[in-house]
Amino acid sequence: MTRLFGTSGVRGAWKEGITPDLFLRLGRALSSFLGGRGKVLVGRDTRTSGEALQAALVSGVLSGGCEVLEAGVVPTPVLAFSTKLLGADAGAMVTASHNPPEYNGVKFWSEEGMAFTPEQEREIEKILQENPRGAEWFRVGRGRRVEILSAYFEEILRRFSLQEKFKVVVDCGNGAASLVTPLLLRELGCEVVALHSHPDGFPGRGLEPVPENLGELAEEVRNSGADLGIAHDGDADRVVAVDERGRVVDQDKLLALVAGQEGAGGTVVTTVDASRVVEKVVEEKGGRVIRTKVGDVNVALACRENEATFGGEPCGAWIFPRIHFAPDGPLGAVVLLKMLEAGKPLSEMVDELPQYVMQRKKIPCPDAKKEAAMKEFMAAAKEMGGDLSMVDGIRVSLPEGWILVRPSGTEPLIRITVEGEREEWVREYMQRTVRILTTKEG
Ligand code: MG
Repeated sequence: MTRLFGTSGVRGAWKEGITPDLFLRLGRALSSFLGGRGKVLVGRDTRTSGEALQAALVSGVLSGGCEVLEAGVVPTPVLAFSTKLLGADAGAMVTASHNPPEYNGVKFWSEEGMAFTPEQEREIEKILQENPRGAEWFRVGRGRRVEILSAYFEEILRRFSLQEKFKVVVDCGNGAASLVTPLLLRELGCEVVALHSHPDGFPGRGLEPVPENLGELAEEVRNSGADLGIAHDGDADRVVAVDERGRVVDQDKLLALVAGQEGAGGTVVTTVDASRVVEKVVEEKGGRVIRTKVGDVNVALACRENEATFGGEPCGAWIFPRIHFAPDGPLGAVVLLKMLEAGKPLSEMVDELPQYVMQRKKIPCPDAKKEAAMKEFMAAAKEMGGDLSMVDGIRVSLPEGWILVRPSGTEPLIRITVEGEREEWVREYMQRTVRILTTKEG
């Protein structure tokens, strides 16, 4: 059996792997994992298959003996936050994050509001294969509806206020953010223009907040003279920004700016694939950077272990440990506005950052050949000199830049990232790396 859980929970296309039947069994497995007692908070994003899958999951949890608190449509960060707040024993979010609308999945959360670790996911898979029969009639769980948005709003509004009245355009991608970010920013005194804010599961743009999907947002920011544009993915654990000139801000640079603000004098966690600009900014402000494996659960675990003040990935998944340990898109938007209070427009802050050139590339490589290719690269990396890191794949750090080579855990490909100060250097090392990884092919 192939592994059910990928880098971010269970994910797949509706009817192709993702079925109510699977969700019924997953729910029962989760109940069994919790020993058949306790409470599970269940929520979903706006996908059309969400209700059907949530109903099946809830049925599974109840039949396994646990109680269910049903939250309905909420962003993933609100579900995670509320799992801890309500004292639930676990959370389950029905979502496929930034994947296309026909996809869905589920991500489990611990009582602390942290994503399940790979070990916990493997345990669920093991129970799933044993196919537990569920609780006796007198132990079947009961369910009830809960409203969790207002407590989340209260917490953010208790902790943050804005002195200035900003104009913000928010693109919710017809996802779960529709219920939170526009309202939250209005409560903070902003003038908000909301785009794609009907939470109906039929997105008016691609759900991944990448520049090619954000043309409308950029145009609206320019036309309306807004201070900031904000976009989220389908479940709102990610945030992307458009500056007041209508440019989608480079994600590594945005990460560095927020890390600089949140991590001044403290510890920041980021992943091995993030730009060197993060160290540059954070270290200048007296902080230090720890790099971890790619994946938000790894960032969350490292944040807790190192008492970090901020953790983030270049995809826009940002963790603010003083509030909670789940990547939080709406909170990210609030923090960006706090940054703008310093008085500088976002475009200026971005343009003042050190400029690096970065190239990311995927090359096809069948699973069976990954190990040999990585061995080849390891030998070459040792010859290059510099610092070697094996936190996730192989990362070589040289004075002029760095190279990261990482085999995908789920697809037949290897990812390469090269970053440096000069374009020729980056091009040369990208070509060299591709050559090294493909010589033994065939
Ligand atoms: Mg997401």
